[in-house]
Amino acid sequence: MALIIIRTHTVAYPVEGMWLPVWLDSLNIKDMQEMGLRLSAGDIYNMNGSGLKDAVVIFGGGCTGAVISPEGLLITNHHCSDDRIQAHSTIGNNLLENGFWALNREDELPNPGLEVTFLVTIRDVTDTVLANVNESMNETERNMMISHNIQGIIDGMTIDSYHHAEIMPFFFGDQYLLFLYKTFKDVRLVGAPPASIGNFGGNTDNWVWPRHSGDFSLFRIYADRYNSPAEYSPDNIPYKPPAHLPLSLRGVREGDFTMVIGYPGNTDEYILSEELRIIVEQCLPAKIQIRDLKLELLEDEMEISPEARLRYSVPYYSLANAWKKWTGVIRGIQNHRAIDEKIMIEKDFFLYARQLAGEKFQYKGLKERFSEFYKMYGPLYAAYDIGTEVLNGLETFDLVNLILKGIYQMPETAGASGNEIPQQLIRSIRNFCKSNPVQFDRETLPFYLRIYFENTADDFHPEFYSQISNRNRGDYHAFVKDVYNGSIFSDTVRLFRLLQRSPRKLIRRIHDDPLYQVFYQFSIKLTESVYAQLDSLSHERNRLYRIFVKGLIEMDGGKHYYPDANLTMRVAYGQIEGYSPADAIHYRYYTTIEGVFEKEDPQMQEYAVPRALKDAYASGNNDRYTADTSVPVCFIASNHTSGGNSGSPVLNAEGHLIGINFDRNWEGTMSDYAYDPEICRNISLDVRYVLFILDKLANAKNILNELTIIE
Ligand code: ASP
Repeated sequence: MALIIIRTHTVAYPVEGMWLPVWLDSLNIKDMQEMGLRLSAGDIYNMNGSGLKDAVVIFGGGCTGAVISPEGLLITNHHCSDDRIQAHSTIGNNLLENGFWALNREDELPNPGLEVTFLVTIRDVTDTVLANVNESMNETERNMMISHNIQGIIDGMTIDSYHHAEIMPFFFGDQYLLFLYKTFKDVRLVGAPPASIGNFGGNTDNWVWPRHSGDFSLFRIYADRYNSPAEYSPDNIPYKPPAHLPLSLRGVREGDFTMVIGYPGNTDEYILSEELRIIVEQCLPAKIQIRDLKLELLEDEMEISPEARLRYSVPYYSLANAWKKWTGVIRGIQNHRAIDEKIMIEKDFFLYARQLAGEKFQYKGLKERFSEFYKMYGPLYAAYDIGTEVLNGLETFDLVNLILKGIYQMPETAGASGNEIPQQLIRSIRNFCKSNPVQFDRETLPFYLRIYFENTADDFHPEFYSQISNRNRGDYHAFVKDVYNGSIFSDTVRLFRLLQRSPRKLIRRIHDDPLYQVFYQFSIKLTESVYAQLDSLSHERNRLYRIFVKGLIEMDGGKHYYPDANLTMRVAYGQIEGYSPADAIHYRYYTTIEGVFEKEDPQMQEYAVPRALKDAYASGNNDRYTADTSVPVCFIASNHTSGGNSGSPVLNAEGHLIGINFDRNWEGTMSDYAYDPEICRNISLDVRYVLFILDKLANAKNILNELTIIE
């Protein structure tokens, strides 16, 4: 259960929590060492020198990566970079399908727009941020003072263009830390196995243990000749990082200490039962239904041709990733009775708060304030969450935005003099239509509109719903048919003909367009009636939760609490261990290449095993990468991770790289809301499988030679 923190006994045990590196020394290090860690807190995060944290980066804004050579070589997950690999792929040279290995530096492929970010330092700025803030302020006054103080801190810093500072709140604004980051913009693709290895098992195996995918890819960071970040240039040279991680061939055993350093994006461990209920009983089921249809359409489309598969497989997997997880979350929360457990914690807490309400005015009527709050917040949150999923799921909505944004951004003179639409904009519209299944919207829209209607309160329904119930007698298909009949977005030929008109005429035509009107009314409703109100309620939410979490910590006196993930660097620690998901079932902690061959099914794209992998294994001489009798592929451990931890280094007691984190187990997907150390496991790729592939399949001696390998 979430909120159970450190127990004090000496045998190794799993630990809930994603801890800030800067607080390890005071909160966790003793515990970590008792569990087997042979490093100090300074070896992990060192204010004045280099530590393990200097080898960990934010990769591409939403994943983690690890530096593994003195030449700036970086390892992350295949699924964190499949869009990059796809961008280099054509039907004639399909890197996604066939894999790619740069056997020398000249072959490494630049990726415009891809960035990696190093954490330089963390500073506790709570006192400065909260200076002149007092309890009598309302949340708006408090926020204004905090923004003013934050601005003061940032303005007082002298930083160059490739550094930036962020001040982040923790525990709902009770504490503030400043993070100084350094970003590199020339990041080149060095290698990736074929998708049949990197994404082996596909959507069927995703979020499930046992797992057999070789989910990794390699990139290299380039810098200018002073070793500083620079825009892409052929003259850039490989970056010399302050630290890199050695790869361990010593393997893993049940009970071994492990830690994961990375960037989990978002967790909600402290939300009250009321909010969790809205999420799992209302929002997630609606969003799953919304994605069901789109995924089915994409699956059918991908069957049509290799071009369609290349075009749609990356968006398909990214859509399917959250969709599948949501089902796991709902089941996990139910099986785990997480809502009931939260209710019990709330009961204890509100009793405690009521008893203290006389001395601590912030506790006065807290329970009632929460329930008043949720009366307003609940329906708004559902409309926000489901409505956003609807709009994000409509390709034509993005297309309309692309066109309008492009036209509004044209130089004033071009628009005013009624010039033509620039060819460059027409090209991006054409590319958009080529790579996005705009045609699906005609089928999905009726369905999406119905799901939204059925799962949200009347106040949040745009005007056109009255037309559906009156003119179309509740028939969503008939409504969408009418809308499409009069729309320029009903076919691309018509659309491209209209793009020949003047921008002004086109804008007028778009504004009159019935499909555009649906989007417009929908987004205006969300913006004005949902987002705006939610935004102001979020201040109240912060205030209530700040009191609640601070109170919990106080009530539990002496226990250590971790703040929710917010894409800042965290250290999770635990041990290598299997688990028992149900009566009489026990899962071993590792898988092997034998399992890849067992799963092989040439009829199923997801379970196709490349000939090269079989040959590599059959050629023998695998001892270096073998544990017992076979090459290990993945392992599980009790490290508390989340989305964004994909690509995070998994380290042993010496700080050596033993794996790359890439997923969680099905029974543990609820861990963003309720973590159970008995059942929640993170899934990692064993570095021995990485090395086996580099050596035996890719024959990439150049890459192997730059690694530090602990035999
Ligand atoms: N597979 C996940 C991701 O895509 C990682 C996780 O959530 O554990 O980010």
